[in-house]
Amino acid sequence: MDEKVHRFRNNDKAIALGNPAWDEAQAHHLIDLRVRVVGNDRLQEVDTGFPFVNLSSCSYLGLHNHPAILEGAINGLRDAQVLWVPVSRIRMRLAIMDQVEEGLSEIFRAHCIATTTASAATAGVLPLIASRHLLDGKAPVMVFDRLCHFSMNLIKPICADETTVLTSPHNDLNYIEDACKKYPRVAYVADGAYSLGGTAPVEGLLELQDRYGLFLFFDDSHSLSVTGAMGEGYARSLMPDQLNPLTTIVASLGKAFGGSGGVIMLPSAKHHDLTVRFGGPLAWSQWPNSAGLGAALASIEIHKSPLLRELQGKLRENLAYFDSRIQTAERGDNSSIRLVVIGDEMLTSEISGEIFRRGFYTSPVFFPVAEKGKAGLRVMIRADNNLEDLATFCDAVEGLTAARCKDAEVAVA
Ligand SMILES: *Cc1c(COP(=O)(O)O)cnc(C)c1O
Repeated sequence: MDEKVHRFRNNDKAIALGNPAWDEAQAHHLIDLRVRVVGNDRLQEVDTGFPFVNLSSCSYLGLHNHPAILEGAINGLRDAQVLWVPVSRIRMRLAIMDQVEEGLSEIFRAHCIATTTASAATAGVLPLIASRHLLDGKAPVMVFDRLCHFSMNLIKPICADETTVLTSPHNDLNYIEDACKKYPRVAYVADGAYSLGGTAPVEGLLELQDRYGLFLFFDDSHSLSVTGAMGEGYARSLMPDQLNPLTTIVASLGKAFGGSGGVIMLPSAKHHDLTVRFGGPLAWSQWPNSAGLGAALASIEIHKSPLLRELQGKLRENLAYFDSRIQTAERGDNSSIRLVVIGDEMLTSEISGEIFRRGFYTSPVFFPVAEKGKAGLRVMIRADNNLEDLATFCDAVEGLTAARCKDAEVAVA
């Protein structure tokens, strides 16, 4: 076979490895659920009427059903008199789009572009980094962290058509420093907070940036709004007010931010137009719609108010309670995600199914999302979980894992 094929992607392999676990999850009634919202963190299955607490939601601050955000969405729609103006934003845009970008730029201390999704932002930005159009000087060698989110890995083959692309071991500062010594310019691509818990070694990376001119791209979807005085996210919160010219951050506005769409944080206005014009999906016919933009304006106001701090505090309290009951590698971590490792994939679905019958949905995760042999329950804690529910949930996790996995890596605190 052509040796240029399957350098960065192999669906045969990925599907053969991943699909049996999806089938198992389906057999345990853990996917394809039809639901309606019946409370803050509560859903109800439409077909059975079964109510449950959703511990698999990225709405870490519980903002998605905040009345101000819903009202914002309605106002956005009412003021625009249209959900959607299907023309490229290069040509024209609703005035509310500028208001949202100005608001995001203020709270995140960067030049912000609002996008339809975080993945569209990534698809737009990464190839322009690879071709050196978002930085001065030479095209960089790109180093992707091995555990980068799928939305970044998806763009790897496109980047590899512009420059050399390497994959680093997870969070390996030595590997990145060696690359910086070897190549005149390196761009490192990573998550700020990872989907399976844990964060990037941002402080060490900033040191490498100072020393070697390392370009940094972070996708901080999981920590936006959750971390930082203005909810700017984990990576941005560790950076100076003026974003280094060698830094770009993208994040989803559909997670803790409480809205929909995504954001790109750029260091200056200089690359704004180029990013929009040549960023592929950023310039096609969809940009955030009027309801999404109205919701974003309302969320920006919440980010500027004491409510943000209050919700961040509640989330920390809930995480501290969970950590006091269940031992995970992420204990005490900045992220809202905890991975309770079970090990065996089938046992993971079985335990997850039993926990669901007790009224809590947590997603079982397997290879290739989790590392081989490290299947487990991905628990996503929120500000709007109440402590009694969390206590009942921890009882279930403790009881089931102790009873079922004799040599599981789960340790009960
Ligand atoms: C959820 C997530 C995405 C996808 O966000 P969309 O806005 O749905 O495109 C991308 N990257 C990371 C790290 C995520 O967690």
